Amino acid sequence: MGSAMTGAGHVCTAICAGAAALTLMGQDPMSPPGALAVALTVAGSLLPDVDTETSVAGRCLRPVSFTLAALGVAHRTLTHSLMAALSVGAACWWLSSSGLGAYPWWFLGGFLLHLFLDSLSSQGVLWLWPAQRFLGSGPYRYKRGHHGVYRVGSAGEALMVVLFCGVCVILPAVCR
Ligand SMILES: [Zn+2]
Repeated sequence: MGSAMTGAGHVCTAICAGAAALTLMGQDPMSPPGALAVALTVAGSLLPDVDTETSVAGRCLRPVSFTLAALGVAHRTLTHSLMAALSVGAACWWLSSSGLGAYPWWFLGGFLLHLFLDSLSSQGVLWLWPAQRFLGSGPYRYKRGHHGVYRVGSAGEALMVVLFCGVCVILPAVCR
């Protein structure tokens, strides 16, 4: 594949961002409710890649990834679009107002974090899919006019993950 930011990168950034956000809000990430919020952030950050059968989400939700592949839905299109973000947001709003409190918002936060980080890659993300299309094909496809800051699977990606997590550790300490 080589076209997905590694699951490990998404897990690391989601854990750090979730823990940092909780700390900034004066909550303990190590408490049971805090740990649940972080776990939901991680789950949300893995969901967009359900559009590849080899990803963590693709393997956990095999019927979904299988169906998307059968329908010819390409990676970083439908599940990485503004439309998907709004749908997940609507589902989270509904779950939140039906008694789950703030928990669904952590899931949405992880989902949006994934789209944000993917959109910084050289390939980018089709926020406006289906109005927007990738040009080229396979590993050579690209988004017109897009310039990312890292290449998927490169040292640049690892560096970005480390920097992001570093900021997440430093920020709550500085803001205290
Ligand atoms: Zn992705």
